[in-house]
Amino acid sequence: MIIELVCIVCGRSYPPGDHQTCRICGPTGILDVRYDYDAVALALTFEELARRERTIWRYRELLPVPARILRPFVHVGWTPVYDVPRLADAVGVRRLFLKDDGRNPTGSFKDRASFVGVMKALEFGYRAIACASTGNAASSLAGMAASVNLSAYIFVPERAPEPKIAQLLMFGATVFRVRGTYEQAFDLCRAACERFRWYNRNSGTNPFLVEGKKTAGLEIAEQFATDPSLGGALPDWVVVSVGDGCTIGGIAKGLHEFKRLGLVRTLPRMLGVQAEGASPIVKAFATNSDVAPSGADTVADSIAVGTPRNWRRALAWVRASRGAMIAVSDEEILEAMRITPRLAAVFGEPAGVAGIAGLRAAVTSGLLPRDASVLAVITGNGLKDIRTAVQVAGTPHDVRPSLDAVEAIVQESSPC
Ligand SMILES: *Cc1c(COP(=O)(O)O)cnc(C)c1O
Repeated sequence: MIIELVCIVCGRSYPPGDHQTCRICGPTGILDVRYDYDAVALALTFEELARRERTIWRYRELLPVPARILRPFVHVGWTPVYDVPRLADAVGVRRLFLKDDGRNPTGSFKDRASFVGVMKALEFGYRAIACASTGNAASSLAGMAASVNLSAYIFVPERAPEPKIAQLLMFGATVFRVRGTYEQAFDLCRAACERFRWYNRNSGTNPFLVEGKKTAGLEIAEQFATDPSLGGALPDWVVVSVGDGCTIGGIAKGLHEFKRLGLVRTLPRMLGVQAEGASPIVKAFATNSDVAPSGADTVADSIAVGTPRNWRRALAWVRASRGAMIAVSDEEILEAMRITPRLAAVFGEPAGVAGIAGLRAAVTSGLLPRDASVLAVITGNGLKDIRTAVQVAGTPHDVRPSLDAVEAIVQESSPC
């Protein structure tokens, strides 16, 4: 039920079609997909939703793809929300929920976007799809492409972690490891898409992918509205880690749409979290200015973005929600990586738990009140970056196969 695509810079309207960015504004003119919400409201009621499959396809009227297109059969979305009181105590808030998006088919939030990406490629008649990515966008694209039998071409920067490269190759993608930065990989991908007529999945500029990402916001609203065990009200804050800015912008749009349809009454405030070594959007938020390119140096590879493409929309949504942006150090991210699995039983990659680090810092600095209820989206699974996990986890105890040797260690390590 799309009506039009609207440039977020100049407001120019385009009919739904194979566009990437605004013809007048160029690459900064990101297009936003607009729907006929009155028509959607008639179709998407709680009664109807209760009958539907528990994947992102339950929100089909709010997705920019026709139902006749082949869609991935793997189960994307409707990830669980957990109430985690011990982690809430550790970060210092009244109530904390985690939404575990590492449970998506390829282990990250990005599956939501790639689901839509491969369907758009099929709708527009492409035989191949491509992207440049630090890892998750790529592995998710490779997985979704495999499920609809589309060829995938992936450009990765040199520092992408090995497990993510392994995923790409296992799903049958053609992988170009670019000797250069993410920016160079991004530009090379765009040029290759033009030359070889591949569909460009680069989510920073593609108008449709963020529509997949917004399903997490739709889910959060629906899950809190319909599951009484979650407390009967939406959380006060939603925390999301930020690289390009599409994830936080998408989630905020989804939450907003649920309200627009009259299904919830309040909206959470958004807290966006970046790594200090790659925090251009935090700086732009603090100084109320445009984003200036920054370094991209952080252990959290999935948010190591020095030149974000979608910052305008991210900041617009954060501001509209009366939210905030905060940067955290790699040490804080690693500490979040260490405490989240043991206190909340969810194992996230560095960017996946950066939100927990940011939440903790926001509470400590008084930015976010201690009596708040908060939902943090864990955006990627911890097995995505085992090298970092092993680095924070410490080493196992080496023992002879002897009970006495085990006992000696048990006594040494048990708290007295
Ligand atoms: C991509 C990604 C993010 C950030 O999303 P953006 O749209 O780039 O802001 C956060 N966490 C993980 C695990 C990701 O893969």
